[in-house]
Amino acid sequence: MATIAMKFGGTSVADIERIRHVAALVKREVERGNKVAVVVSAMAGETNKLVAWTNDAAKPPVEGVRGNILQAIPDQREYDVVVAAGEQITSGLLAITLNAMGVKARSWLGWQVPINTSAVHGSARIEGVPASDMTRAIENGEVAVVAGFQGVAPGVRISTLGRGGSDTSAVAVAAGIGAARCDIYTDVDGVYTTDPRIVPKARRLEKIAYEEMLEMASLGAKVLQTRSVEIAMLHRVPTRVLSTFTPDVGGTLLCDEEDIVEKKPVTGIAYSRDEAKITLHKVPDRPGVSAAIFGPLADAGVNVDMIVQNVSEDGETTDLTFTCTRGELNRALAAIETHAKDIRYRAVTHTADVAKVSIIGIGMRAHPGVASTMFRTLAEKGINIEVISTSEIKVSVLIAEEYVELAVRALHSAYELDAA
Ligand code: ADP
Ligand code: ASP
Ligand code: MG
Repeated sequence: MATIAMKFGGTSVADIERIRHVAALVKREVERGNKVAVVVSAMAGETNKLVAWTNDAAKPPVEGVRGNILQAIPDQREYDVVVAAGEQITSGLLAITLNAMGVKARSWLGWQVPINTSAVHGSARIEGVPASDMTRAIENGEVAVVAGFQGVAPGVRISTLGRGGSDTSAVAVAAGIGAARCDIYTDVDGVYTTDPRIVPKARRLEKIAYEEMLEMASLGAKVLQTRSVEIAMLHRVPTRVLSTFTPDVGGTLLCDEEDIVEKKPVTGIAYSRDEAKITLHKVPDRPGVSAAIFGPLADAGVNVDMIVQNVSEDGETTDLTFTCTRGELNRALAAIETHAKDIRYRAVTHTADVAKVSIIGIGMRAHPGVASTMFRTLAEKGINIEVISTSEIKVSVLIAEEYVELAVRALHSAYELDAA
């Protein structure tokens, strides 16, 4: 008998029939003698619809009025009120379904749990899940059905955790209630060597090290939200990824690096299309120029990812390229234009037709030549590398978006990750 946390994603709760299936999985755990907290996402597609509504509502009444671009961003506190609604619905529906099956259950919204978060609306960080009435209800044998993705920010305002945030809710609740494990149920039966949707030959990993999963998630593999992996690692929550539809087969366990016996040079490949590239042409090649560029970007809340500065041809000026997310592109351009006088560039160009492809593996530390295999493989396919960045356990390249699937498949074969 144990206390456990279970999380079900959007496709798993997409309609009442699937919610009944989820309720049966929860009931099975209760009948095994376990005490259960369940965390649910909104029904598939629901959050996208709510996000689109907030954007529509924020549009200025007269189309095309210049200078109104910034007003088109909805107030993030109200955005959170709207987009958190999807999870309120599924938590109530699952509680109703469980009770109808004879399993005592109640719903808990973020503020009721409480899931305390920072004030950064739209992408708040969980700061704590203190013991509360919910903990006592679980101890008394009642199933707690927690609305994922949402929390409560200072000032008792509803907050949300960023897209895919229900994974983070689940691991944080598991840590908060001292659960023996956290099972993340989704539409794939585990973490694969790459996204199985674009590479049918991808293989399921029996285990993956926290560090590798962190890189995979932050470099685009959306099977788990990055922050959920951080919390699992920090609080030592044994976390598994499982399929809602075939719950008794497969699965992937997040584990410590030491628990992985065979350390291949590359464990997995991730990609992200949410990339934009900005180049500043002919900026002065002198001390302080990077500070003049990246200071205003940081002040504007732009998270700069990759950076490359070219060799100065004339000894006077140089070109500087960096990347950020597509959502941050306009803000980045505005910050640069505002500070044009300090930066003193000749011209600025930008594109969102780029994508980032990354190879990840703790085995990379011990295997030389891993990056060169990547560059050769891409060259053989005629794919140009625009920017490179590396860390101890990953290599990322920026390429034209149209080649992303080709690149991922070629690399998957090159590193011998294809299923037999
Ligand atoms: P949920 O709604 O259950 O949270 P998500 O859509 O957020 O599900 O995440 C699951 C999806 O993540 C899978 O359907 C798959 O396409 C995608 N994915 C991307 N990379 C990977 C990977 N390496 N392993 C497994 N799934 C991946
Ligand atoms: N429903 C939210 C989203 O679509 C949170 C989640 O699914 O994890 O981003
Ligand atoms: Mg998800």
